[in-house]
Amino acid sequence: MSRIVHVNGEWLPEAEAKVSVFDRGFLMADAVYEVTSVLDGRLVDFAGHLARLRRSLAALDLPSPAGDDALLALHREAVARNALDEGMVYCQVTRGAPAERDFLWPGPEVPPGLVLFTQEKPGLALGAQARAGIAVATVPDLRWGRRDIKTVQLLYPSWAKMIAKGQGADDAWMVEEGLVTEGSSNNAWIVAGGRIVTRGLGEDILAGITRATVLRCAAEAQLAVEERPFTVEEAQGAEEAFVTSATTFVLPVVRIDGRPVGSGAPGPVARRLREL
Ligand code: PMP
Repeated sequence: MSRIVHVNGEWLPEAEAKVSVFDRGFLMADAVYEVTSVLDGRLVDFAGHLARLRRSLAALDLPSPAGDDALLALHREAVARNALDEGMVYCQVTRGAPAERDFLWPGPEVPPGLVLFTQEKPGLALGAQARAGIAVATVPDLRWGRRDIKTVQLLYPSWAKMIAKGQGADDAWMVEEGLVTEGSSNNAWIVAGGRIVTRGLGEDILAGITRATVLRCAAEAQLAVEERPFTVEEAQGAEEAFVTSATTFVLPVVRIDGRPVGSGAPGPVARRLREL
């Protein structure tokens, strides 16, 4: 089914939607984005995604394309226009399209670019991967130093995932100084000694909205949590491992670099957190 997408103030059939070749998002990855999942036609954790979008815009001094209420209305309109039941809304803000390609942005006379589109993901709530778990392969983390800003600079994470696929795994875990930073598009977790462990927040990882929700659910369920980094070896020897993101919720990791984690099948903590 052809989608209706939003581009710079207009709703258009996807084939008619165009952005300028001078758009700084296209030329320089000078853009930030959010992905909000949709379940039963409703936005999940939208307040968190909006707050992080605001933070990303502020961190890069990017002009805002719309106020909070307008952005919420656009997200809801994207869902409604596409009769989306299960899937996600992608929202991207760029520093706009100046008349010339130049590293310097001319100034606020160039309006920011705004794109929203939807993507259907049947089985989002309980897909095959959630039941079977995934295998990850580790790669060095070669990204830039401000991974807390959600930019569209996704060359390395997408390449890392392709490298992992080439090795027969489903996704990549990135490693820096011997410690796991995060997955290609998710936060990484283990269960070690009965405690849930995930790296603390900083400029070296993205502050996942699902991560925050899972921490809240774990606290409410009185599960012990430690925010600290862990090594690949600790993860391979852990009872369980899993990843979290808006479009996967809690997804068990059952193999790391070919070695089974725990029993080699999804474990009870990941299952419980996913249910919560
Ligand atoms: N880390 C990275 C690098 C990501 O791309 C994502 C997905 N946006 C996440 C973590 C998870 O964030 P969220 O739970 O907000 O989707």
